Amino acid sequence: MLSLFFANRLSPVARLSFGLIALMGLLLILSQVFLDVMPDKATTAQRNRQALSESLAVQLTSLVEKGDRDTLARTLQTVTRRDDSIISVGLRKADRSLLAEAGGHRLSWVQPSGGKSTLTHVIVPIYAGGQHWGDIEVEFTPITSQGWRALFDSPTAIVLMIVSVPGLIVFYLYLRRALQYLDPTAVIPDRVRAAFDALSEGVIVLDAKGRIALANRAFRRLHADASRNPLGQSASSLPWLKAALPSDPREHPWQRSYRDKQAVVGCEISISQSQGEPKKVVVNTSPVLDVQGRARGCLVTFDDRSELDRANAQLRSTLEELEQSRRQIADQNEELQELALRDPLTSCLNRRAFIDRAMRLFRLAHENGNEISCIMCDIDYFKSYNDRFGHAVGDQVIVAVANALQSKLGEDALLCRYGGEEFCVLLPDTDLEHAEQVAERMRAYVASSAAVDIAALRGLNVTSSFGVSASRFGSTTIEHLIDQADHALYASKKGGRNRVSRHDASAEALLT
Ligand code: GH3
Ligand code: MG
Ligand code: MG
Repeated sequence: MLSLFFANRLSPVARLSFGLIALMGLLLILSQVFLDVMPDKATTAQRNRQALSESLAVQLTSLVEKGDRDTLARTLQTVTRRDDSIISVGLRKADRSLLAEAGGHRLSWVQPSGGKSTLTHVIVPIYAGGQHWGDIEVEFTPITSQGWRALFDSPTAIVLMIVSVPGLIVFYLYLRRALQYLDPTAVIPDRVRAAFDALSEGVIVLDAKGRIALANRAFRRLHADASRNPLGQSASSLPWLKAALPSDPREHPWQRSYRDKQAVVGCEISISQSQGEPKKVVVNTSPVLDVQGRARGCLVTFDDRSELDRANAQLRSTLEELEQSRRQIADQNEELQELALRDPLTSCLNRRAFIDRAMRLFRLAHENGNEISCIMCDIDYFKSYNDRFGHAVGDQVIVAVANALQSKLGEDALLCRYGGEEFCVLLPDTDLEHAEQVAERMRAYVASSAAVDIAALRGLNVTSSFGVSASRFGSTTIEHLIDQADHALYASKKGGRNRVSRHDASAEALLT
């Protein structure tokens, strides 16, 4: 308990206790000095010894008057024996001769200076017949103690000793208990306190030494232990808060404010909870300065961002989910778009998609002055496969031919399933001669490979006929160019099938 008092810096309660004890001691000493309310041991003893000696003198006076020397001597010896405080007694006549003595009075008696009684040497005069007959001399034992025992000779010292230590403890305990009930916030008007409590941020007001003078409701909600009365405690020493702060107390935000006399904002801390997630809190501090610019206190706010962080995290994850489903929808759209552009059986471009793209390429070629070519292809006697082997085999033939055609085309070329067993190819930046070579390669490849993987067609060949045209023949639209190629295809059919024919400008002239 005492170590509490003598800690490095005394707590206000300890200082108050010391002050009260000191004040009480001073009052005791003053009352002793001026009123002598507690006579000390020596004074009392001297008074008693004087009284004893005087009553002895009364007895002896009658014996002196009778001249009974024997009884005198016996009386003196009896007195000396019975009272331990008496060393010796002597009856001295006025002429200084000793009439009777006891306890070796002759040798031990030392006459006090001025013949006046002292604490140990008491002289009482005896009168006989109205004359000073002599004196009774009584020598007493000294009563002052030696060493530390001397302390107990003074009743004031004893009272002070009895009162000081236990009194200090009692005062300390009492004041500590009493101060707990002295809530500093009690002096703050209810309206102000209600305003503080209404704030969603935790707020504490610190005094010049960093002790909490006021804490609002939101602050008490920051941790289970914060609900215990934090008033009067150092903010830096609250265990739950200390654990969240920098280990060096000088770096605690309010200490920085005290030191720099400036506000500290945006100090992020994480307050661990006995249960559940830690609270993410932003601490802001603002020093309260006096007219001399000294920090007399500090206003500290605690902004609990946990909810906001959680909401933000949830928002982020929702946004991610949205972005993911947006990507999925975009992918599916692309897939759908692709499906909408493609023929489901052969995966070649369908007619509408082909015409769209072909128009653009045709226009571009025209603008750039580049040649663009077109090939039309039709499977020979296709109907007979359907008729002989069924529609499914017919489909297989169409797919095999489409694959064969695609395998001979570059990335820039467009391949389209133009009709049932008809295909159309557009070759951008390709002249007629080159297009004829491509058509020839396709024709040869269809003839050699298209039937190979179709079991039903073992030993048979699938062939196809081709017609080639190019922009050099003066076609003005893509449809016109395709038409020219179709005419050339017709020529191949007519010429015996499984062949490539180029557009004939003169034949077209005849047709139109
Ligand atoms: P040619 O050599 O003159 O081109 O004779 P062909 O038999 O190939 O030509 P034709 O126009 O007489 O026959 C085409 C047939 O293709 C008619 C139709 O039943 C068939 N057909 C069209 N589309 C499909 C399809 O998707 N699958 C199948 N299996 N047959 C189809
Ligand atoms: Mg046909
Ligand atoms: Mg055909």
